Amino acid sequence: MAAAGNPRPTGEIRQQKLDPLSVRLERLGLVRDWDYALHLPLRYEDETRLTPIGSLQPGVTAQFAGKVSRSQFIQTGRGQQFCAEVSDGSGTISLRFIHYYPSVQKQLCEGAQIRVYGEPRTGYYGSLEIVHPRFKTGRAAEETLPQALTPVYPAGEGIQQRWLRKRIARALMDLDIRDLLPRDFCDSLGLPGLRAAIEYLHNPPSGADTEGLQNRTAPAWRRLIFDELLAQQITLRRTRLLNSEKRAPRLAPSSPGTAERFLESLPFSLTRAQLRVAAETAEDLARERPMHRLIQGDVGSGKTVVAALSALRAVDAGFQAAVMAPTEILAEQHYRKFRDWLTPLGIQVVWLTGRLKAKEKSAALEEISSGRAQIAVGTHALIQEGVSFKSLGLAVVDEQHRFGVAQRLALRSPGASGLVPHLLMLSATPIPRTLAMSYLADLDVSVIDELPPGRTPVITKLVRLDRRADVLGVVRATAAEGRQIYWVCPLIEESDKLDLTPAVRCREDLAAALPELSVGLVHGAMAPAEKEAVMADFSAGSTQLLVSTTVIEVGVDVPNASLMVIEHAERFGLAQLHQLRGRVGRGAAKSACILLYDAELSDAGKERLKVIRESTDGFEIARRDLELRGPGEFLGERQSGMPFLRFADLGRDEALLAAAGRFAAEWLRTDEKSALAHAARWFEPQTDFLTA
Ligand code: ADP
Ligand code: MG
Repeated sequence: MAAAGNPRPTGEIRQQKLDPLSVRLERLGLVRDWDYALHLPLRYEDETRLTPIGSLQPGVTAQFAGKVSRSQFIQTGRGQQFCAEVSDGSGTISLRFIHYYPSVQKQLCEGAQIRVYGEPRTGYYGSLEIVHPRFKTGRAAEETLPQALTPVYPAGEGIQQRWLRKRIARALMDLDIRDLLPRDFCDSLGLPGLRAAIEYLHNPPSGADTEGLQNRTAPAWRRLIFDELLAQQITLRRTRLLNSEKRAPRLAPSSPGTAERFLESLPFSLTRAQLRVAAETAEDLARERPMHRLIQGDVGSGKTVVAALSALRAVDAGFQAAVMAPTEILAEQHYRKFRDWLTPLGIQVVWLTGRLKAKEKSAALEEISSGRAQIAVGTHALIQEGVSFKSLGLAVVDEQHRFGVAQRLALRSPGASGLVPHLLMLSATPIPRTLAMSYLADLDVSVIDELPPGRTPVITKLVRLDRRADVLGVVRATAAEGRQIYWVCPLIEESDKLDLTPAVRCREDLAAALPELSVGLVHGAMAPAEKEAVMADFSAGSTQLLVSTTVIEVGVDVPNASLMVIEHAERFGLAQLHQLRGRVGRGAAKSACILLYDAELSDAGKERLKVIRESTDGFEIARRDLELRGPGEFLGERQSGMPFLRFADLGRDEALLAAAGRFAAEWLRTDEKSALAHAARWFEPQTDFLTA
């Protein structure tokens, strides 16, 4: 038995230290037998047939057998390569190895019988060749051909396909793969039985519908995809059911309450969309069942006012409200807004973040636990140990996608009264319908689908980086009109935490080029107090140009800022660009967003920037974003709290999703035990905390 492993550079085969196997398997989600049974192939290889060498086609992966007719080393510009020619009477093909273990030469000696699997291509001299094929020699090359297609599984480093195949076969033998779904229900959807489907996918018979296997539309795939969606729907709907069994304080409107006085005190009236969502929320709050509602609204749609109104409902009913924001800057901004809006109405607002001095912090904690503070605004410091509300009635989580599920749930622990607070989440990342139907099935969703009147739409321009100098002229002109400017530095690393040098350099460049302007800098790694001071200067208008990393992406609200420049815009995601652009166009002034892009832009990058230029509608952008990136990246595992769908594709499988949602609801009602057993097969290890 001799098979070449992954090609590795000769002489350079480094022994890397790997984590123990069990750790690597766990990373793939492989712990229980069920995990192995549901570890389905990425694709298949057809080793059930041999193709005559004379019939091989470039670009078509195939298996063939023959004898090595010649083998030799060739000296090339890039080093020594090893080449073997294989013939079977119908033709000849060469196998080329750029990197190889020394043993390859021995295995491929002239006259050796060989069986090869790989994708031929047309070589230098017009003849066919395969680079680094997988091959067997000796007795392995003579074994009878397998009956089934060979599955190729997702695998991590140092986990071999052969090992996985065996381990999965064992799991399939040991498991009780009883079909929990009613037979006639499956028949009605044209879905096969569970064991048959699983076995088919792991070992498709020769002659199986390869296309249906590949694009996952074969009945066996549809069954597994349905089961996956069903498990997700059951888990989320059960969370919702358990939630509805808890008790929350009724926050019925009292009249005339502070909420009404607050509305009267505002310099504007609410939009119809705001009024509608505020009414939906008020209805929830007046119930004993805890609210679990997400308000989606594009940037600038005015979610904060709606949140403040809800907080006042809590206050009017004699309870406290907490408002949690993902960053210090945002929490601070909310605090000021709430304080300015509500202290004139006699409401006590406190503020709590991790960076408060010990004395300030203990004072704030005291206010919160004594109940003197009616509204507490802060960062995740609000959910840390030592914070205990006297009577929390409502928790608001702003930019909820920035928090994990666990953090959101931490705000929900029952108080001394045994009552859990209502939960209101705000998000400016619009979530397309199919995604909401699947990942957010445990929430009620309200949409603020209207912007306050009097906003002039932001004009978006794409400008090549080599015309940066022209953009500086626009910056000057904007500042001359008394307006302010954001300048967002390019992302260098995935995270903007570590790499502050580009931001610092960017600021120096701009300050030198625009000596007449006062230029500020804010980035993620700055000390909170420093950050706050910079933001305060910008808010007050004493800084004209604010250079920043993406820390200003969420929620920052400075209406006098009317120009946003984003350098290397192609490196940002669509949602991010939309959020950043949303920082301008908040006042009456005509606003613009300039996206500076690298001339060497990839097609995907061009596509993205085009979407942003052509649309200012967050929902449309989100839909395109989902298309371009897929749900995994779009949503972020932390937000969904649910493991990602591994097999379902919400675009392709929308009908199955709808059916799964309906059946999950019915099944939980009629046979909860089976429904939960089904969900456990898929998700058990991961979702404990969802139902905790
Ligand atoms: P977001 O939904 O992005 O969080 P904000 O709540 O920060 O938006 O609101 C954006 C700006 O619009 C704020 O300055 C806010 O005071 C203002 N605003 C909110 N609602 C209205 C309205 N109905 N009419 C006019 N301005 C409003
Ligand atoms: Mg906001």
